[in-house]
Amino acid sequence: MTTQQVSTEQLQESIHGAIITPDHPEYDDARSVYNGMHDRRPAVVIRCADAGDVITAVSFAREKGGDVSIRGGAHSAPGFSSNDDGVVIDLSHMKGIHVDPAASIVRAEPGCTWADLNHATYAFGLATTGGIVSTTGIAGLTLGGGIGYLTRGCGLAIDNLISADVVTADGRFLVASDTENADLFWALRGGGGNFGVVTSFEFRLHPIKDILAGIFVFPLDRAKDMLRFYRDYIKTAPEEMGAFAAFLVAPPFPFLPEEAHGGTYCAIISCWSGEIDAGEREMAKIRDVAPPVGEMVAPMPYPAINALFDELLPFGMQNYWKGSFAKELTDGAIDAHLQHGPQIPTVNTAMHIYPINGASHRVSEDATAFAYRDATFSTVIAGVWPDPADDDKNVKWVRDYYQALEPHSEAGGYVNFLDADDQGRIKDNYKGNYDRLTQIKKKYDPTNLFHLNQNIQPA
Ligand SMILES: Cc1cc2nc3c(=O)[nH]c(=O)nc-3n(C[C@H](O)[C@H](O)[C@H](O)COP(=O)(O)OP(=O)(O)OC[C@H]3O[C@@H](n4cnc5c(N)ncnc54)[C@H](O)[C@@H]3O)c2cc1C
Repeated sequence: MTTQQVSTEQLQESIHGAIITPDHPEYDDARSVYNGMHDRRPAVVIRCADAGDVITAVSFAREKGGDVSIRGGAHSAPGFSSNDDGVVIDLSHMKGIHVDPAASIVRAEPGCTWADLNHATYAFGLATTGGIVSTTGIAGLTLGGGIGYLTRGCGLAIDNLISADVVTADGRFLVASDTENADLFWALRGGGGNFGVVTSFEFRLHPIKDILAGIFVFPLDRAKDMLRFYRDYIKTAPEEMGAFAAFLVAPPFPFLPEEAHGGTYCAIISCWSGEIDAGEREMAKIRDVAPPVGEMVAPMPYPAINALFDELLPFGMQNYWKGSFAKELTDGAIDAHLQHGPQIPTVNTAMHIYPINGASHRVSEDATAFAYRDATFSTVIAGVWPDPADDDKNVKWVRDYYQALEPHSEAGGYVNFLDADDQGRIKDNYKGNYDRLTQIKKKYDPTNLFHLNQNIQPA
């Protein structure tokens, strides 16, 4: 028996969860991640049941050496949540959630998805900023910043984070908040998985239950009008309006005429979280941009709009992503969109221009690690396709589109929308906060144990 086999057997005795090695029947499931491009074979997946398991797992990984992945919802486009020959600290079974409706706070474990969290808080008529797709993990999404339908009114996900429990690289369990380990708390809010394993998130909730939401699909020949309208409208729209512009290949949405299915269109996807009558007036402004090919706008539970795109984005597809921030959607940027957006290659692929103004702008640039508080837009070009044989052409479309937008964008992009070949942009992503992040990394992870991420190197 090898040393490693002995140590993983001993490990099983000291943890509550499961030790999954290549001979385990669940190995293939435990090693696979959302992005099918990353077919990794870790030496061991430690499927943690609680924070105690995480402490043991971190110590084991540190002593073993080599790669360490932290797995929450496994949605990392660069596939950071699995690796070859290393350790995966798998938190996906840690799904505890507790809502305190009197205090408007939810405490959630890192295996929760936004579907889990929204379901729990909806019952109390409460919500907080999560992502656009409900299968995404709360953990990775929050630690990078967290952009979603409610950003303009409620801020980024990190702006609603009250505290986090963290296991650091040396195996210590720390609470991070404004009053405890405040430097760690600052770094966690935008710094990604660089600083430790978060075992619990505490979020502030807002009185949001049923919203007015939906999608307006416009013909491509009105894309210029739509993008110009969107850039002007979203700058001053009431903050209850979360709306983003998109190019898409139409799925068989029942509200579209059958002949439109499979066609390429531009669209505005909207979510109004205020009073319904006022929302109808705002939706009328969007409807007036151009005669829509079709629309579906209706009052619905907030968790429903959060699941609108779920079926188009199943586990195991090929993914290649790029992201950029922009202060303005200039005419030059609109020209780049008009050139590349209509070439969107598959029904699964998304180009979305999210607004990150409103409440997010009221947080100063150095208040959290997330530095782009002056950007109005966060653009994602998310190439998603089923067949590995089509990798080259889809990657090329994403890269060409991104390069065309680059002269009209900020140097940095949102860390959660970047791919593995974007490590050279990390310093730009954090602007003036970068040096402080490297100091905090040195304090909490001096050997860079947690390096499978958009990596901040210790000073
Ligand atoms: C379909 C889809 C839709 C998306 N939509 C949005 C969106 O609307 N808004 C948005 O902001 N982003 C969005 N993203 C990007 C998303 O935020 C990132 O992919 C994020 O990393 C996913 O988190 P996860 O927990 O699912 O992923 P994982 O792959 O499990 O984790 C990603 C990384 O986060 C870190 N991490 C995860 N859990 C922990 C933890 N407990 N402690 C410390 N570090 C941890 C690790 O570095 C890990 O490698 C989307 C991604 C996908 C695939």
